[in-house]
Amino acid sequence: MSKQYSHPDTVCIHAGKTGLNPHGALATPLYQTSTFVFDSAEQGAARFAGEEPGYIYTRLGNPTTRELELKVAALEGMEDAAATATGMGAVAAATMAFLQQGDHLIASKAIYGCSFALFNHQFARYGIEVSFVDMTDHEAIKQALQANTKMIFAETPINPTLTVLDLDFIGRFAKQHRLVSVIDNTFLTPLLQKPADYGIDLILHSATKYLNGHGDVVAGIIVGSTEHITQIKLTTLKDMGATISPHDAWLIIRGLKTLSVRMERHCQNAQKVAEFLEAHPAVGQVYYPGLKSHPGYKFIGKQMKAAGGVLAFELKGSLDDGRYFINQCKLFSLAVSLGDAESLIQHPASMTHSPYSAEERQMAGISDGLIRISVGLEHVEDLIADLTQALSLMQQKQQRSPLSL
Ligand SMILES: *Cc1c(COP(=O)(O)O)cnc(C)c1O
Repeated sequence: MSKQYSHPDTVCIHAGKTGLNPHGALATPLYQTSTFVFDSAEQGAARFAGEEPGYIYTRLGNPTTRELELKVAALEGMEDAAATATGMGAVAAATMAFLQQGDHLIASKAIYGCSFALFNHQFARYGIEVSFVDMTDHEAIKQALQANTKMIFAETPINPTLTVLDLDFIGRFAKQHRLVSVIDNTFLTPLLQKPADYGIDLILHSATKYLNGHGDVVAGIIVGSTEHITQIKLTTLKDMGATISPHDAWLIIRGLKTLSVRMERHCQNAQKVAEFLEAHPAVGQVYYPGLKSHPGYKFIGKQMKAAGGVLAFELKGSLDDGRYFINQCKLFSLAVSLGDAESLIQHPASMTHSPYSAEERQMAGISDGLIRISVGLEHVEDLIADLTQALSLMQQKQQRSPLSL
């Protein structure tokens, strides 16, 4: 990173320029092409042999995609990155590049629903053993270690209860036992949390969320050392093919320019919404690490600069009351996903965490009354007004039919 780029806000805008911009366009050129023409048979052969730099075919690399990769690598403070078709493409490519039949993975027991499904349901078919562990319990992590353990995988804060894990412990544990450590950093972005500072090997994102930030792309990215990223690119990305579309990479480059101002507003709004909910009589527990009542609060200002834009809360009511409440929200869109300008509201038990069985959900601490919101960039007073009216309609309904309590 050059000296002019020492602040992450500037990195978001200027880092990653590849120099492949023959007309000096201000915006990154979009190389919307599947393939690249060689000057000669000799040149084509040299590129395939890796003797000459240059592009061959977009699944193997593309100049627009490359700018995105270098930008996010700079933001995370790592050497290299590989952009992927979706966040799950990143999870699958990063894990499967380093695991094979007979290996063992230690995974956090509460992770993104499809990451859980991949590890719990798919890996079993390929003979990869997985232990799901409560990673707030460091003894449990130590006890899960086996002779064939190769990797440790976690996300923090954990969706949807925002439990915070200690990255310093995970990084040191992985180094001590020579495990590849992988952290899903989707919820905070490199602006609020840098796993590389704790010696984490691979950091991945669903770029669908904050990195793009505008709800118009699904994509992912894996960040790590040149050695790790090269192995991923030459194996699980090249041969399984979950590479990003250059058009999606171009949209994320555009989205990233405003990442720092967006994250600041997401955090400010979420803090105010969390404080409002915590004080509301129709709301039970509120899960947001920016609240003193949350166990993750002690990590704020240390491991994580701020608490991010996602929070969850328990409604005092039945499953039906929860559905009724969500249906009354007018400004919040009833949708899964997070990190968009629009505020979104959803019900994890019937939506994002439906790949879990009822038992698995209970284990992960996801109750039927839990509501998750992704606080957007609207004015916070409008957001609080919408929640206020929906909560009061729910309370009125409960008074009409007290049995529903
Ligand atoms: C959304 C998400 C994913 C999956 O990303 P997709 O882009 O939807 O494939 C993985 N991890 C976390 C934490 C997510 O929020």
